[in-house]
Amino acid sequence: MRVAIIGSGYVGLVTGACLADFGHTVVCIDRDASKIESLQRGEIPIYEPQLSELVSKNAIEGRLTFSTTVADPVSDAEAVFIAVGTPARSRDGQADLTFVLDAVRDVAAALRGYTVVVVKSTVPVGTGDNVERVIREVRPELDYAVVSNPEFLREGAAIADFKRPDRIVVGAEDDRARDVMAEIYRPLFLNKAPLLFMARRSAEMTKYAANAFLATKIAFINEVSDLCEQAGADVQEVAHGIGLDKRIGSKFLHAGPGFGGSCFPKDLQAMIKMAQDHGAPARIIETAAAVNDQRKRAMARRIIRACGGIVRGRTIAMLGLTFKPNTDDMRESPAISIITALQDAGARIRAYDPVGMDRAREVLDDVEYCRDAYDCVTGAEAVAIVTEWDAFRALDLDRIRTLMARPNLIDLRNIYGPDQADKAGFRYVGVGRGKAS
Ligand code: NAD
Repeated sequence: MRVAIIGSGYVGLVTGACLADFGHTVVCIDRDASKIESLQRGEIPIYEPQLSELVSKNAIEGRLTFSTTVADPVSDAEAVFIAVGTPARSRDGQADLTFVLDAVRDVAAALRGYTVVVVKSTVPVGTGDNVERVIREVRPELDYAVVSNPEFLREGAAIADFKRPDRIVVGAEDDRARDVMAEIYRPLFLNKAPLLFMARRSAEMTKYAANAFLATKIAFINEVSDLCEQAGADVQEVAHGIGLDKRIGSKFLHAGPGFGGSCFPKDLQAMIKMAQDHGAPARIIETAAAVNDQRKRAMARRIIRACGGIVRGRTIAMLGLTFKPNTDDMRESPAISIITALQDAGARIRAYDPVGMDRAREVLDDVEYCRDAYDCVTGAEAVAIVTEWDAFRALDLDRIRTLMARPNLIDLRNIYGPDQADKAGFRYVGVGRGKAS
């Protein structure tokens, strides 16, 4: 099939590369000319494991091309995916649909013959109706369908998630559009990927409900971890104990510094706003979002406490800056709130992240970026592990301790245990680990 994708960020580029790899002919479009020029030179503007290889293979084999213009690729396409950003609107938290509607107007002007317009961006319920109306205004004569196909991939595991999804949700009101979507995703059926057809509004809601549920699960285990600390229990054991219950499941039960990233915080805000607008307030989600916000700065207080209550003029080492491992994405990373709160308290920050430091420089001031974990901890009063990169899982703790000014290890991802840290001579603070914390 011939596919055009508007927006070549994390979602658009992964979608484009994977659909091309299935054998479709794909053009990835972006209005950011520098992004398209790098892609045309074979350079990938984001860090995502295996993406670079997949993009170059499909570009060399002629199935994947890049463009800044919408007209030709869209007029040739049987399906046009909209994968542009939907950030939170600063004035009220609602999803900002400016990019989506701009893209839809460009697409509408270029459409020729029956085409399926697929909204892959995360958008509030009813946006599909809105998109349909905008296209009708521009092209009243045109035969087209608007479909919702929300994306569930995780950054850091995006290719595997796209190629082996738990499910593909398609909200369509039109049989012909269903057939086109089935044909696009047919290569996945070899892996028995369940393609779920449903009403368009249900598909739009499914994306928000999924993210809100997962985020609430994280907020829940973080709250349990605070109680574990006070009551002398270990949240790792508790999470294992509840996670083996199939009704609960073991994923998203890792206590830590709070969730971040480009999706959970903004999607929760958008869902809260949507719920208010519909007169059906989402109290549980409101609480999960508020609890998570407070948690990030609370992690800074935990570090300050571990340093004896005063960090002014002292050096704190931060290992990990991105919101999770295997991505360079810094959006809403807990590291931002933690570092800002520590700087507010007068601390000097040294930091190391395996791939996130370029992006971190754009959002954090006055941080000394280091060569590696050992360089980072040199002379520090405390080291905090903020992101659980593989590179931090087997550090030489003895060496770390000898390089530091004081042996304070604040392990916000529970990579190490109190016993292991004690043995290496550290004062250890984990998350949710009884009195030891
Ligand atoms: P992104 O910011 O990485 O990429 C969006 C791209 O769209 C940018 O390159 C931008 O230049 C381009 N763009 C904006 N307006 C355009 C226009 N009119 N024409 C052409 N290009 C345009 O965003 P992302 O992380 O890929 O997210 C895209 C959507 O997918 C969002 O709605 C997001 O919520 C959703 N989503 C993201 C993820 C994720 O892990 N990042 C996962 C699932 C869903």
